[in-house]
Formats: sequence, C-alpha cells, structure tokens
Amino acid sequence: MSEEIEIVLPDGSKQRVEKNTTLLDIKNQLMEEAVVGSIDGELVDLSTPVKNNAELAFYDCASKEGTTAICQLVSLLLQEAVKVHYPEALFAKSHREDQTIWVDLRVKQPLSALILKDLEHHIKKQLKADRSIESATMTVSEAKEVFKDNELKLSALAELDGNQTVFVYSFGNATEFFLEPAALELKTAKYFSLLKVSGAYWQGNPENEMLQRVTGVAFAEKAQLLAHLDYLEESEKRSHQKLGKELDLFMFSEEAPGMPFYLENGLTIRNELQKFLRELQAKYDYKEVKTPLILNQRLWERSGHWDHYKNNMYFTKVVDEDYALKPMNCPGHCLIYKDRKRSYRDLPMRMAEFGQVHRHEFSGALNGLLRVRTFCQDDAHIFVRRNQIEQEIALALKIIDEVYKIFGFEYGVELSTRPDDFMGEIELWDEAEASLGKVLTDLGYKYNINEGDGAFYGPKIDIHIKDALNRSHQCATVQLDFQMPEKFDLTYVDENNQEAQPVMIHRAVFGSLDRFLGILIEHYAGAFPFWLAPKQVALINVAQPHEAGVEELFQEFHAAGIRVEKDLRNEKLGKKIRDAELRKIPYILVIGDKELSEDTFAVRKHGSDTVKQMSKAEFMKLLQQQAQEKNHHYY
Ligand SMILES: [Zn+2]
Repeated sequence: MSEEIEIVLPDGSKQRVEKNTTLLDIKNQLMEEAVVGSIDGELVDLSTPVKNNAELAFYDCASKEGTTAICQLVSLLLQEAVKVHYPEALFAKSHREDQTIWVDLRVKQPLSALILKDLEHHIKKQLKADRSIESATMTVSEAKEVFKDNELKLSALAELDGNQTVFVYSFGNATEFFLEPAALELKTAKYFSLLKVSGAYWQGNPENEMLQRVTGVAFAEKAQLLAHLDYLEESEKRSHQKLGKELDLFMFSEEAPGMPFYLENGLTIRNELQKFLRELQAKYDYKEVKTPLILNQRLWERSGHWDHYKNNMYFTKVVDEDYALKPMNCPGHCLIYKDRKRSYRDLPMRMAEFGQVHRHEFSGALNGLLRVRTFCQDDAHIFVRRNQIEQEIALALKIIDEVYKIFGFEYGVELSTRPDDFMGEIELWDEAEASLGKVLTDLGYKYNINEGDGAFYGPKIDIHIKDALNRSHQCATVQLDFQMPEKFDLTYVDENNQEAQPVMIHRAVFGSLDRFLGILIEHYAGAFPFWLAPKQVALINVAQPHEAGVEELFQEFHAAGIRVEKDLRNEKLGKKIRDAELRKIPYILVIGDKELSEDTFAVRKHGSDTVKQMSKAEFMKLLQQQAQEKNHHYY
C-alpha cells in the first residue's frame, strides 16, 4: 500500500492524499483555477509533488504570482517558435515587467516585423497541441551546466548566487530558467500578443553587441489584452514625437543629441506656458531673475554639485579657468542673495527664473522631450526665516494646485526622505521631513512616503500628475534645504540685530517646460486648448473672389491678438478644411459671399462636424472668453 500524507488546503480543511501527488492533481480534484501553487509558503510550479505533510496554497491567473507564471510561459513558447524559424538563434535571458515580455536573441540577420504573425500563429498552434513542458528545479551551479553552450544565458546566471534555486523549463528546442515558477498548462497562455521586433544592446549596454528583440504582452483575460492593445494604439496616436513632427512643433538634430530645436509652433506653446506662470508668480510676489549659463567650477565645488552631480555635468575651459554649464539654478540664486546685506524684513524672498540647464543623460535614456540634455526649468528659490517655512511651502503648493487645475490634471503627492549620500546633520533632516509632512497633513493632502529618495541637500515633496491615458509623470517639486545657505554662508540680520541663517526652498511647478510640453502634447493628443494652440483660427476662402475679404479679416484678427492663419491656396474647399483639421486648429472659418456680405461666420470647431452660425461680434467675444478662461472646451 502506498504511503499517505496530510495536506492543509487554502480554506483550512485537511485531506489525506497519496505521497508524491502533484499540485496539478490536487488542483484538478479541487477544481481550483490555479496556475502555480505553494507548499509550506514556498512558491512552486504545478508539477511539483507533495512529499510530506504540508500546507498548500494556489494562485490563479489574476494573482501577481499567476501573472508572472503566465508571462514566463509565453516567453518560453516564444523562444520555441523563434527556434523553429531560426534554429541557430541563441537567446539571452528573457525579461519581463508587469505584462510585457522581452526576448533577446543573437541571430545572423535582423528580424523583420513580418515574422511576428508567423510566430504568433505557431504559438497558437502549440496551445492546442498535446505537448508538454519539461520542468526541473536546480541550483544555479547546476543550471550553468544545462546552459553551458549559451554564453548569453551563462552571463545572467553568473550574476546569481551559485546555491540559489532556479526553475528550468524546456519546450521543444527552447530552454529557459526563471527565478519564479512558470505556468505549465499551455492553454493559460492564450491571451498574448507579439508587438514588435527591434534591436537591443546585450545587457542594455551600448558597448555590447546589438541583439534582436521581440516584445510581447500576456494577460490572464481576453478583455485585459484587448484593453491593453487599445491603450497602445491610443498612446501611439498621441506620441509627442510623432505629433511634434506632424504639427511642426520641434525637431532634433544629430549635431546636438538630446537638445530640442523649437519651431515657431512649439515655441508659441512654450511661451504661453511661460507667460501664464510668470503672471501667476507675479501675483504672489515672486521676483524674476536671470543668471548665467556658464559658471566657474569653484562655485560647483562649493555648492556640492561637484561631489554629487559631476557625472551629469558639462564642462568647458575659458582661458585657463574651468567652468561648468549649470545643471541647476540654485548656486546662481545664492550669489544674488549674497550680493546685498539682507534683513529679516526682506524675507521671504521669492526668486524665480526660467533657467536653461544642461544635464548629461546616456543616449539610451533620451526620449523626445520627455528626457533631454538641456531644458528650461521654471525654477524658484524662496529664502525664508525658519518660522516661515510652513507658510511658504503651503503657498508653493497652492500655486502648483492652481496651475494643474487649468490642465485638468489630477495629481498625487509624495514625500521623499533622506538618501544615503545626504549632506548635513541628521537632526536637521528629521526636522525638515517633519515640517514637510506637517504642511501636507494640515492642507489635507494624502501622501506616500518615498524612503531615501530625497535630494542630497534636503527632503522634498514631489507631485505626480496623471495624464489622459492615466500615465503618471513627476513634474512639480518643493524641496527644503538647510545645506546650501550654510555652504554659501548666506545670512540676514534678525529682529535682535543678530546674524541668522535663512532656509532655502527650491520649487518648480512644470519642472521642465520641455518635458511638460511633451506631456501636454500627449495629454491633449495635439489638440491644444485655445489659449495654447499655436494657430487659433484658420481662415479659408471659398474661391478666388473672396481673397481680399479673407485678407482683411486676417488683419483684423491679427490686430486683435489672435493667432490666425489664412489658406488661400487654389485647392478644393474640402481639402483645405481637412488640412486645417489635421493641424488641429481650434476654429475654422470658411469665408464666401454670405460671410463677407453679412459679417457672419459659419464656425467649425476642431473635432466636430457641426457648423455654428455666429456674428463677427459674437465670435470675437467667444475668443476673448476662451483666452481668458484657459479651459479646454472650444465652446
Ligand atoms: Zn534649486
């Protein structure tokens, strides 16, 4: 008679089963929807036999463990499919993040995107075939033996501890190892899609060889897969790089990688953003300044940037002196502060600058306007007495709130605390972190704590906005700093005629104007609200006799401060309207006999088929209102 053991099921009930029964058999008996399980808390795949009395748990495809297991299965199936087409392919360790999988391989010729359909087809056929996956658990040292002919996977194994356990799976000619168990039932892999082929440097290092990469996604449910594919399509349509070209907003050149060139349309939007914030800051008594782009290296050594930031800085020599392009505006503002004797009556002093900074990023990290090497920060430094810290942080947050409301951004707040390479006394840090936390609590913000992610000179509040596709971007920041005033020996004369040290608050609302513009392009899908639109009104003549009338209207709109353009081309009317639509101009006016004789317009707003009749006076009033309200409804 075979030996029995006792298992404890997830609901707490106990059962006796034959020793070495697999989790798969137990799962099938229980009719559990599991893709992986655990034995006494240890995560394993379903082929694992239960050898002793144990507590069991199961994870279905919706769980975090289940999602990982399914993605790993798809990645194994994908490698098998590639092997069928390219028997010589050598695979690096596959990667996964959330639902996305990346399979990198060395192959003679670059893959063509056309292969994706064939690979998908092959995998789908396997899902229905009666084939099984071989699985084994072993130590990393043992796995090195299995992969001894694959230097790419060996290098990934070499990063692990030799005694660590890995899960090794084989399907057809493909073999892969994972740190977590994979799903073994082929049918669980059915909601996947292969998205693209591209080149990818081995280990992500630009100095290594270029491998071929297949990217795919896998989900537990069909609806999730479809929703994700919709999302990808929508984000592709909204891509700021694509729209930046189509709408003539900005460009890049190999002569200055990562440094944007703004065309008239893009600069118009940026200027409007700047004007808007400039007016708002003036209302709250911020004083705008401008400091040099290039400053002596001594200054950066003094500020601490040299020690903490020099790998991201650009340097230059002028005569025999070493200079650096500023990566931040703070030291320049400290020099302005220090230039005069300051009294407690001068504080708070709110110093603002639209400051162009340069920060070196790896070429692989560059991403359109979202990650650049030079950008304009809407920076401000507020010099305060200690008892003014909380009121000034509250004011900075109020301005941030006013700005983000205009764009319809919801946002989340994060408090980042002392990093490992912090400067200064721990007691000061504790005090600063407590002040920031208190202001947030007093203002009723719910916030997350981001342990160890503060700046080297002080803790900070970061604001993360959610765009129209629900993606999160970190933009605004408010940072408290006790270090820089000390480094620069900043002082003021207090009420008792004693010398005292101010505290510095660094803050930005947009963060980077360039990056914020990139986010806005995607957020609005290029259809900017009236106040930001590079061209606000398009005038189109019906035929040649209306040219003079359009010309006159053009001058009139222009004089009223409206960004207007005219299309007098000898083209079909339909084409001219469509072109203006494609350029996402908020209002299109078609000008013919009736419009000119009656001074009325047939107004088409962007994205709508309906035409609204308005008198000229009504339309002008509408435009004024739109410019003032800064909302996103055209009417
Ligand atoms: Zn600063």
